[in-house]
Amino acid sequence: MFPTLTRTEAQARHWDIIIAGSSFSAMFFLQGLPKGLSVLVIEKGRHMTHAEQIASGFRNLEAVPMNNRSGHDKEWVFHSLLGGNSNCWWACTPRFHPSDFRMQSLYGVGEDWPLNYDDLAPFYQEVEEAMDVNGGGSDHVLPRDKPFPYPAHLPTRSDKVLRAHSDLWWAQPTARANGGPRAQCCANGVCDECPIDSKYSVLNSFDRLAYDGAYLLTETEVRAARIEGGRATGVLVRDADGEGEISGSAVALGTNALFNAVILLRSGVDHPKLGVGINEQVAQNVLIDGPGLGYFGGTSVTGHGYALYDGPHRANHSGVLMETYNAPMELRPDPGKWTERLRMKIIAEDLPRDDNRVVLDGDDYVIEWAGHDAYAWDGLAWGLERMQSILPDGLDFWGWTEPVKTEKHAMGTHRFGSDPARHVVDPDLRVHGVDGLFALGSGVFPTSSLANPTLTLSALALRAGRKVS
Ligand SMILES: Cc1cc2nc3c(=O)[nH]c(=O)nc-3n(C[C@H](O)[C@H](O)[C@H](O)COP(=O)(O)OP(=O)(O)OC[C@H]3O[C@@H](n4cnc5c(N)ncnc54)[C@H](O)[C@@H]3O)c2cc1C
Ligand code: SF4
Repeated sequence: MFPTLTRTEAQARHWDIIIAGSSFSAMFFLQGLPKGLSVLVIEKGRHMTHAEQIASGFRNLEAVPMNNRSGHDKEWVFHSLLGGNSNCWWACTPRFHPSDFRMQSLYGVGEDWPLNYDDLAPFYQEVEEAMDVNGGGSDHVLPRDKPFPYPAHLPTRSDKVLRAHSDLWWAQPTARANGGPRAQCCANGVCDECPIDSKYSVLNSFDRLAYDGAYLLTETEVRAARIEGGRATGVLVRDADGEGEISGSAVALGTNALFNAVILLRSGVDHPKLGVGINEQVAQNVLIDGPGLGYFGGTSVTGHGYALYDGPHRANHSGVLMETYNAPMELRPDPGKWTERLRMKIIAEDLPRDDNRVVLDGDDYVIEWAGHDAYAWDGLAWGLERMQSILPDGLDFWGWTEPVKTEKHAMGTHRFGSDPARHVVDPDLRVHGVDGLFALGSGVFPTSSLANPTLTLSALALRAGRKVS
């Protein structure tokens, strides 16, 4: 781990870069920085060891104030502790689809990203290597220059049936270990708190994240960036003893899509799109029964289905990404057939809407939530209609659950692009109009994709760090 400081010690120095947060976006930005800088990482939460998290189950879940006018239950999940949500994530690590970066050009929807799949590919590879990602069988849709660092986990019986039917089913890329320094994932299926520390987390990878010249200050909240004469000159912080200022030549916010927006608003960044457009995917679980299906195999979420992901339908509504589950499992009540069931999650992308936004509320903040866009709901309904048609003969798609309350993937609150009038952040993740202020993480995503965000936000943060001279 990095050497730690007290607030007084941190205040006694001037830092080249101050980074707020200690999870994926913060740590991969740090990895990208040139050597020789003095860096202070400021983390709001405390250091809870893996053993302490397992024993207590406590991870300091944030209570998120929300005016929910959507008519649907809605939740947002953020944990404030060293390593952030890397402690509890499930380590599903797909790359985004090449079309996800060009939604406006291809389908007239949302906005194109200011970079494309090929621009990000080398950074994807580096992050996959840093996380010991395993996978395979997806290169014809998600092209790669180099193989996955490790081969895919064993498929389940259900995955074998699906993969024999179409090459649009393949192993889900994941940082739940199948080779590398961490313990082999053994499909316990309680990945929120992996008992054997198999999935990648910041805490179990600190030795590989080391940066000579980086120090850590925990249990200290960054309240705002100090901006003077159009440039960031430090941060305003709060801890148990009160408030203070810490000086730095540059500030990078890696506190996720929600808290980055809150900090930027408090810092006086004045942009009509700041905080606007918070979104995340919508998902439902579906059940499929039939001969040949069954569990066993190498990990918790085992497969991906892309048959309904990309295509002209995205001009009208989202596609759906399918995830096959090994654990937690669903059993069939029929005698002799109780494992002949597949539980699958289908996931639709949402669009950023102006009426979904984060705003300040006095000293605090609130999410104004009008609901997911019809683009997402229509995509889910379309996916359910199509499901039977993409399954091999003999499998019976018969049930689905209510949409889940959250995919835990908040995005889109400070979207990036090259037009300062429309975008809060530039293509290198620097806040337009403020020198030396970076906003990292999935808050920059102009459109959200159907796939899990963390590999992509980590690759973007690494790339942003590399651009610092
Ligand atoms: C249960 C669960 C499962 C998930 N599974 C997956 C998955 O399989 N695949 C995937 O791609 N994504 C998954 N996610 C989402 C993933 O965790 C996030 O995309 C990712 O953690 C975002 O990284 P981040 O660095 O931007 O922010 P976070 O991980 O949210 O970290 C933010 C950090 O900033 C700190 N912080 C917050 N405010 C302040 C402040 N004011 N000052 C200082 N520090 C502050 C926090 O304590 C935290 O350390 C999952 C999330 C959850 C909750
Ligand atoms: S499936 Fe089990 S061993 Fe693998 S990451 Fe999840 S909890 Fe850990």
